[in-house]
Amino acid sequence: MRRKLVVGNWKMNGNRAANASLLAGIVAGANGSNASCAVCAPAPYLAQCQDALSASPVAWGAQDVSAQPGGAFTGEVAAAMLADFACKYVIVGHSERRAYHGESSELVAKKAVAVLDAGMTPIVCVGETLAEREAGQTAAVVSSQLGAVLDLVGERVAQIVVAYEPVWAIGTGKTATPAMAQEVHAQLRAQLMAKNAVAAETVQILYGGSMKPDNALELMAQPDIDGGLIGGAALKAADFLAILNAAN
Ligand code: 13P
Repeated sequence: MRRKLVVGNWKMNGNRAANASLLAGIVAGANGSNASCAVCAPAPYLAQCQDALSASPVAWGAQDVSAQPGGAFTGEVAAAMLADFACKYVIVGHSERRAYHGESSELVAKKAVAVLDAGMTPIVCVGETLAEREAGQTAAVVSSQLGAVLDLVGERVAQIVVAYEPVWAIGTGKTATPAMAQEVHAQLRAQLMAKNAVAAETVQILYGGSMKPDNALELMAQPDIDGGLIGGAALKAADFLAILNAAN
């Protein structure tokens, strides 16, 4: 039985004051949840997350990482630095990184390895664009994105989290139907299974893309949907907690 996981991806939002009240609201409501939960904050606020969340069941993480271990890479953040702030998770390969920063699946795979090497859990994002879905390429696209990561992580496949985020559903209010999402999640599970059948049973596959309090329950009721990666609804404690509650 996989434990559900609900992760807030704050993206490039927040400031110290707003984060303080959001974090306090989440902490006040997260106790006693059967599901795991985490927030992925912009890098400058990881120390604030660590201070606010250390004594709580809520974990924290980052939204991206360098594939390089350190050195002359201006503006980059190394996995060891994120581990230094006790991050548990690091999102890699978010579609916004792939689209706006030209990240290839090979680079995403290297980032996933850097995260594992530093003792954290990569949340590996995959997902098709609307044009790819309409061209019938969904299965091929997500399988090649996940495949690149599976090729590099080797036997550590049990230590990753996968997030299926159809690009057309992100920030649009258009959610994949539970059946559409389940179909892709089952494919991803089968791909994990082919790599390592035992690990595939334990890997959490999250759904992301306009998950809200009113659709979270039916999405997370699907057999291969093990939680959510939440954007917009993660910025309000009440909405985030309602989704966490749906994961119970
Ligand atoms: P929204 O929940 O705002 O659609 O964002 C989803 C997402 O991209 C999470 O990583």
